[in-house]
Order: sequence, then C-alpha cells, then structure tokens
Amino acid sequence: MKTEYFFRTLRNRCPRCNEGAVLGTLFHRHDKCSNCDLAFSREDGFFIGGIPISYGLICGLWIIPILVAWLLEWVPTDWMIGLSFCGAISLPLLTYRYSQCLWLGLYFTFAEHEMPIARKSE
Ligand SMILES: [Zn+2]
Repeated sequence: MKTEYFFRTLRNRCPRCNEGAVLGTLFHRHDKCSNCDLAFSREDGFFIGGIPISYGLICGLWIIPILVAWLLEWVPTDWMIGLSFCGAISLPLLTYRYSQCLWLGLYFTFAEHEMPIARKSE
C-alpha cells in the first residue's frame, strides 16, 4: 500500500508524478496528466467509485454535524430540515469531481501494481 498516491490526489495532484493537476476546476476533471500523460480513467465506469466518497464526505462533514447540532438543540427542527435539504441538493454537485480525484488516489493506494510506469522523455 502506497499512501502517497492518496495524499497527492488530496492536494489535486497527479498520483504518479505529483506535478500535473487532476482537476482543472471544481467542475472539470482532466482526462490525463499534463506532465506525465497518465490517463486518469482506468476503464469505463471507473469514476463511479467516487460516488461513495462523495456520500461519505457529505454525511461526515454536513449531515451528521447538523443532526448533532439538532440533537443538542443548538438549531431548531425547521433549520435542521432546511440545512439538510440544501446540503443534499448542492453538496453532491460541489464534491462530485473532487470525490473522483480522491477515488483515483485511493485506487492506486490499494492497487499500486496497476500504476503504469512513466515513459522516459525522448
Ligand atoms: Zn502525472
């Protein structure tokens, strides 16, 4: 297991060379690394793995804190429902591409033998 691949994608860097960006913007993922030409998509449907990561981010960073605040009576029920609903609509859009980036890093962390060897520049 090579955790540096995950930490590179956590900072939006290519898992292989740590130079090129995986995401161009919050809503756009590059197809390959601008520095080492690593194709980010490994196969059709590869980035479906980003969906549970997005779900985990939203639950861990938004839904659970709101529920805890509601249980502690820091926010009224109306606010809890409204905030949860707004987060459920907007956060998947905001975390979708970044979750794919994290999935790429997790994939190579646990399957480092799948990492293609970089070609030497000619
Ligand atoms: Zn690269």
